[in-house]
Amino acid sequence: MNDSMRRAAAILLVILGAVARWWAESGAPASASAHDAMVATIAAARERAAANDARLKPASRFEEGGWIYVHLEGDPGAMGYQHGYLLAPEIEDAFAAVSAGMMRSTKRDWEFFRKAAHEMLGPKIDAEYQQELQGIVEGLRARTGSKLDVDDIVAFNAFEELPDYYVPWLDKQQKTAQAPNLKSPGNCSAFVATGSWTKDGLIVMAHNNWTSYRNGERWRIVFDIAPKNGYRILMDGFPGVIASDDDFGINSDGLMVTETTITQFEGWDPNGKAEFVRARKALQYAGSIDEYTKIMLDGNNGGYANDWLLGDRKTGEIAQLELGLKAHKLWRTKDGVLSGSNWARDPKVLKEDTPQFDPANKESSPNARRARWDELLKENKGKIDVALAEKMLGDHADTAQHKKEANERTLCGHVDASPRGVKEWDWQPYYPGGAVQGKVTDATMAKEMRMMARMGHPCGGDFLAKPFLAAHPEYAWQEPYLRDMKAGPWTEFWSNQAPKE
Ligand SMILES: [Zn+2]
Repeated sequence: MNDSMRRAAAILLVILGAVARWWAESGAPASASAHDAMVATIAAARERAAANDARLKPASRFEEGGWIYVHLEGDPGAMGYQHGYLLAPEIEDAFAAVSAGMMRSTKRDWEFFRKAAHEMLGPKIDAEYQQELQGIVEGLRARTGSKLDVDDIVAFNAFEELPDYYVPWLDKQQKTAQAPNLKSPGNCSAFVATGSWTKDGLIVMAHNNWTSYRNGERWRIVFDIAPKNGYRILMDGFPGVIASDDDFGINSDGLMVTETTITQFEGWDPNGKAEFVRARKALQYAGSIDEYTKIMLDGNNGGYANDWLLGDRKTGEIAQLELGLKAHKLWRTKDGVLSGSNWARDPKVLKEDTPQFDPANKESSPNARRARWDELLKENKGKIDVALAEKMLGDHADTAQHKKEANERTLCGHVDASPRGVKEWDWQPYYPGGAVQGKVTDATMAKEMRMMARMGHPCGGDFLAKPFLAAHPEYAWQEPYLRDMKAGPWTEFWSNQAPKE
């Protein structure tokens, strides 16, 4: 017998023992409460058996500032098992919220996404990430008895790319009647600065994540990853997903990585490699801007197309990789600032990959925020540091109206306050979405594998679900999943962190 068979046999014995004990104590399963007691006993036995699994030994979890910090360590299968086990309740909860959204927006059932995961994405996933995803399933099942399998988890990991990139491409191919009006997302406000722009001349990187509050309230994991192969990683992330996915991370070889998503992107390559796999691989294995670019381009499927903002703390160089499918471009500098708020700027990418995007419309969310980044960063040239970057992420200046008003055009987005919504992303008026959390680091912190993170709106404002739903019954379908999103404090996290006593 190999190790995993032996483990499975041991777990089975523990469960059988529990059943036998229950049977001896209770006689026949005569009532519903006796049945419930048996189910609870089996669940407790399963959890005890799983908790003794040697794969969990190096892993840990604690909560602080509204975040859940997990340390994962070892070979890919073990790290997956730790991830699935330690975050099992959060994964089941997030899977329910995310899959409901995917099915609703695309008018496709879950079987459709499982098939896409199994046939299109799965076979091209590198062996180590296949093992990690399988490990997540095993850890999850060991902890909760979940019925989710690896196709579910792969489809779930692709939640940023299947519904809004693959499905619209497929609808066009198949000339689907009454196809839903799907738009690629526009996630995030971010910048990376270096040289004469920052206070100490070294790199500063900041990012806030824009998404639906429904998903965003769940985007509260800090992953500290010590893989057997590749570099050490510290990143924010989503329960059950192996990439950061809103993308903010640093690795132990000096790479600093974030991005904002390209608005109104169109295109998909079914023969390409899933974006979530490439993004995770690049953060784990790239030690330079060139290596990062190479990994992201290898098998580019067009999914979740982003403007990647990169820094290499070893050289002080920063870069922007505008990763279209038909076109892409890399800019780099050792003295400058690169910002992002969901717009592409390379003429070829604009023409070929985002044909509907209007870079001249000053009233749109991406362009209004672009103008605000330009003025805010220029005003603060030479003064930018971590504390200032935290403040910038909570900025509420609307350049289209020339006033302070938290809405869809401000760096800290509050689309729930906007009668306009964001039509470029098909976000209707008062859509419950916007900036859901923020992160900042600089070269000195990155060297020590440290970052600052704030859960909730980076300005510190709270979103409350109940009054929102009462005022906006058009979003009643979100009621089972939409929660309060209260802001936490800016909190520092680092690699190998022990929980506070
Ligand atoms: Zn705000």
